[in-house]
Amino acid sequence: MSTITFFPVDCGDMTLIRLSDQAASSILIDVNIRASADDPDDSSVRDVASDLRTRLQRDALGRPYVDVFMLSHPDEDHCLGLSRHFYLGPIADYPDDKKPDKDKRIVIREIWSSPLVFRRRSKDHVLCDDAVAFNREAKRRVKQYRQGLGNKDGERVLLMGEDVDGKTDDLTSIVIKPGTTFGHLNGAYNSCFEATLLAPILCDEPDIVEELKKNNSSIVINFALDSVEPGRPRCKFLSGGDAEVYVWELLWAEYEHDDEALRYDLLQAPHHCSWHSLSWDSWSDKGQKALVSEGARAALAQAKSGAVIVASSKRILDDKNDPPCIRAKREYESILAGVGGKFMCTGEYPQHWEQSPLDLQVSYGSVRVKKAGGGSSAVAAIAAAPRAGSPQ
Ligand SMILES: [Zn+2]
Repeated sequence: MSTITFFPVDCGDMTLIRLSDQAASSILIDVNIRASADDPDDSSVRDVASDLRTRLQRDALGRPYVDVFMLSHPDEDHCLGLSRHFYLGPIADYPDDKKPDKDKRIVIREIWSSPLVFRRRSKDHVLCDDAVAFNREAKRRVKQYRQGLGNKDGERVLLMGEDVDGKTDDLTSIVIKPGTTFGHLNGAYNSCFEATLLAPILCDEPDIVEELKKNNSSIVINFALDSVEPGRPRCKFLSGGDAEVYVWELLWAEYEHDDEALRYDLLQAPHHCSWHSLSWDSWSDKGQKALVSEGARAALAQAKSGAVIVASSKRILDDKNDPPCIRAKREYESILAGVGGKFMCTGEYPQHWEQSPLDLQVSYGSVRVKKAGGGSSAVAAIAAAPRAGSPQ
């Protein structure tokens, strides 16, 4: 069955999707492995690298791998620890085969990267070392592809969105355009998932380009993940990095009349449950007088019956902090109240003083929290819409 794991990484993202195909294909969205999480003498921060490794497959050579690593945008809280835990470089030169399993760097079979994200970032913002390393590796893979050498595990790349000035016009078979739905990963069609890319959006208007920098360049993508039961409804998982109010307003304007684009059974609350994804006003300045953007809220309110919203953030307190912001949590809870859904926070799961990865299992009609030892308990009913052609 498909499983989605949210790792407790404070205000940052690290989300693993495992599909229901026989190979249990994996898609990792972002990493945030802090040095303190790797420090065996620091028991105050969860060892999420070990948590991740226990959930990954090993290949025929004994190397841990993910089928896909997608970087939503190159902020540190989305790529920290990448170089330390993942192998970046030609797969033919993989250097860790003689090391114990726990020290082998994780192979990324296919990278999903947005060239626009880096272009929008690099003008005004200094990238952290891990972001630079990721960008270098994505570019290396594109070069390999151009030379006809990119079609193997550890060398593949897909570009999420086009680059400016026709720079990706010769790469059509590895470019996913916004608004496109695709069903392949790591070089092959996979019948257990689809994904619709919604952003970043390529735009020439100078005013809009200015707004689309930084967090607003995040990849916004809506996955459709198979249930365990063949032919059963899929679960829609909407993930939007740190996209803020402007992007959600744009997406609502674009997809208001589209029944599926923004619909979700599971939403990762954008930007660690930030108020800035729902409003132009400052929460700390205006408090309860801060106004909600109707368009952004509408875009983020396309919850199906029994939907779950997960904030990947610290514990959410009733204070002026943002993110995570208590007012944003309340807004999401009001969205979920209308559909019988549930709001969860990685910083509070299972308890705020002792966190564990939040494993959600997708099966017909529900998302369940997977408990240690293999059991599960229902947290919310999810009535995923039937796929075309599937029995009602
Ligand atoms: Zn972030």
